[in-house]
Amino acid sequence: MKITQISPNIWKLGIWMIIPVNVWFVRSEDGLILIDGGIPKMATGILKQIKELNLPLKKILLTHGHSDHVGSVKEVVRHTSAPVYIHREELQYAEGDMPYPGRKKAQTTIDKGMASPLLQESEGRLQPLEGLLPLWTPGHSPGHVAYYHKEDGVLIGGDLFTTRRGRLARPIPMFTADMQTAVRSGAVIEELKPKLLTVCHGEDIKEPYSQWEGYWTRWS
Ligand SMILES: [Zn+2]
Ligand SMILES: [Zn+2]
Repeated sequence: MKITQISPNIWKLGIWMIIPVNVWFVRSEDGLILIDGGIPKMATGILKQIKELNLPLKKILLTHGHSDHVGSVKEVVRHTSAPVYIHREELQYAEGDMPYPGRKKAQTTIDKGMASPLLQESEGRLQPLEGLLPLWTPGHSPGHVAYYHKEDGVLIGGDLFTTRRGRLARPIPMFTADMQTAVRSGAVIEELKPKLLTVCHGEDIKEPYSQWEGYWTRWS
């Protein structure tokens, strides 16, 4: 597992499992926030990293409920008692009440009651929390959320995009519920103009908005 500091307040921890799988640590005023839980075998590395950063883990925020994003959550919660948040729309799928759109079988990726819904400010808008702006970016999954760190200018994209050799690419089609909606949700990079985009499956991209027009023309 490899840890990289990608901006003044954000670290990325990654592992290779055929494709890269990344999670992030964000330093906030009162401690540490973990974004996503990766795959189960990342739990040890995540806990070790929390110790090394020497800050209390205050929250776990999820981009969505797919198994490669929540694999270590149970174990990390067991050690830290950190509360877990996910978009309200995502809960029913992650808790296994309903199959994700396009899938035949429901699958429980998060134990019932373990995660709470992210607070909404109004229809479609989520409440900012400790320097992070959660952005509802549906398509890859119904309740997919990207997190924008305004001060550092970093967009933590989860599976909103993948990247390949420095280029923006679509989320993995096989696991994407509604590609058209996912591509449209990607417009947040054009609106926010983040300095850096970091995704779960791929390398980081500087000034990703410079690629937006090409991406949109190709895939919309
Ligand atoms: Zn996913
Ligand atoms: Zn994924």
